[in-house]
Amino acid sequence: PGSVKALHKDYRTATPQNFSNYESMKKNFKLEIPEYFNFAKDVLDQWTNMEKAGKKPSNPAFWWINGNGEEVRWSFEELGYLSRKFANILTEACALQRGDRVIVILPRIPEWWLANVACLRTGTVLIPGTTQLTQKDILYRLQSSKAKCIITNDALAPAVDAIASKCENLHSKLIVSQNSREGWGNLKEMIKHASDNHTCVETKHNEMMAIFFTSGTSGSPKMTGHTHSSFGLGLSVNARFWLDLTSSDMMWNTADTGWAKSAWSSVFSPWIQGACVFAHYLPRFEPTSILQTLSKFPITVFCSAPTAYRMLVQNDMTRCKFKSLKHCVSAGEPINPEVTEQWRNKTGLDIYEGYGQTETVLICGNFKGMKIKPGSMGKPSPAFDVKILDVNGNVLTPGQEGDIGIRVLPKRPFGLFTHYVDNPSKTASTIRGNFYITGDRGYMDEDGYFWFVARSDDIILSSGYRIGPFEVESALTEHPSVAESAVVSSPDPIRGEVVKAFIVLNPDYKLHDQEQLKKEIQEHVKKTTAPYKYPRKVEFIQELPKTVSGKIKRYELRKKEWKTI
Ligand code: ATP
Ligand code: MG
Repeated sequence: PGSVKALHKDYRTATPQNFSNYESMKKNFKLEIPEYFNFAKDVLDQWTNMEKAGKKPSNPAFWWINGNGEEVRWSFEELGYLSRKFANILTEACALQRGDRVIVILPRIPEWWLANVACLRTGTVLIPGTTQLTQKDILYRLQSSKAKCIITNDALAPAVDAIASKCENLHSKLIVSQNSREGWGNLKEMIKHASDNHTCVETKHNEMMAIFFTSGTSGSPKMTGHTHSSFGLGLSVNARFWLDLTSSDMMWNTADTGWAKSAWSSVFSPWIQGACVFAHYLPRFEPTSILQTLSKFPITVFCSAPTAYRMLVQNDMTRCKFKSLKHCVSAGEPINPEVTEQWRNKTGLDIYEGYGQTETVLICGNFKGMKIKPGSMGKPSPAFDVKILDVNGNVLTPGQEGDIGIRVLPKRPFGLFTHYVDNPSKTASTIRGNFYITGDRGYMDEDGYFWFVARSDDIILSSGYRIGPFEVESALTEHPSVAESAVVSSPDPIRGEVVKAFIVLNPDYKLHDQEQLKKEIQEHVKKTTAPYKYPRKVEFIQELPKTVSGKIKRYELRKKEWKTI
């Protein structure tokens, strides 16, 4: 524990870094992994001590609003108190033991955060799920994960009851509700009566901490296993280098609670730095509420997905004054330079793009103080040795496009998942030579900046050219008629594949002559990118297929295209 204390000190004192001297920053970066590590005990409880000793700013650890005037604010001490009560419920009423798996399907309500910390305290393995899961999805997740406990709300409890008899491992159910439900423990009631006397388990750094489902952008979501140190310690890289967080900050990340992105930026990264986690209970994405909240509360760091920024910049923001906001980040998909520019014009702030996966912590990022090259994902995070590779696992030179890989030999870095749960062949397929292959393609420029090209599966091969959809989509976005687009390959008798754009038009353009507009858009792309990339086929659609987290599911559109031949 002594060394963990030192580590914790290291978290706090290491920001801000001198990012303008990236090379020395990266060289000097060190994070020793202690044998035992538990985020609740070694980080959160340490912040409680600091708080009690008056050694941290007085902002809360957690600040939640629901848009109807209700608010919850907890200090680190209160978070500790309530999560210890919750931990006792897990071990006593639910009879869970260390290593047992717990599925948590809750919207953005305070209990979701308590569940996260209670799982850490008890060493139970958290498996978050989005509230948009159907009965069938929940059955699949309960069976494949062999979870012993599920925690959910009124909306989903009936779906769980309908399938519970098919899940032989499931033996306890907790509901977050004002009402009682047969067969379920009522969490709100139980918390009132539970003891707050709980000793956090001593978890090994490499013990399984959580299982996160990937977003399912390119097929079925995969279960990724993470240890206590991979996110608990690894995300300090995000916190310090990308999010620029300190204990005086308040961070709002809009991601759904079901994804690793929430663990990244709504749990571990802010709390590693002692910052306040801000949350707004929003059942649906409403740009105007988001903008209002950003103006009204002292949020300093904001994180959202590109799809959300695309919607936000379409609003009139002249009356919004973001008094406290100082740092904005985006991840999950590439962000169109056009959107970044509009955001800058409207807010005066840049969007610092980060790149990572459910399987990893931040892989590349734009760090505060570093020159931003619009459209680039920035430079590798200090946690990883990131390289561009050819099919044989050889490192390519700057400017050459290849697979983005992370070195795992001789030593697997922290911040990387251990395996896809119960899928050894899928896990093995990610390794090529000394590297973990991300499944994404990109290149590095002469200055060491990384540029995302596409997911490997999304690359279009037309007349011998390799075309990444994102570049074409970004060119399309610059045309005033285009609200959003998705570019995929489509079969062609002569060229084999051609570029096809599915376009959602801005409302003002919906009544225009579509043939004429199509030609105009094609001409526009020919002028803004290399002409061979222009979409030979264009289809206007009402909506793009997207994941719950708002990512474009190009593979669905592609599948449809190729089925028609
Ligand atoms: P699945 O693996 O189930 O298909 P997914 O890959 O979308 O879903 P996540 O782990 O949530 O699941 O997302 C990681 C992926 O998102 C990356 O591999 C990359 O393709 C994309 N991504 C994330 N950040 C960026 C970024 N800044 N620029 C481009 N792509 C990004
Ligand atoms: Mg993926």
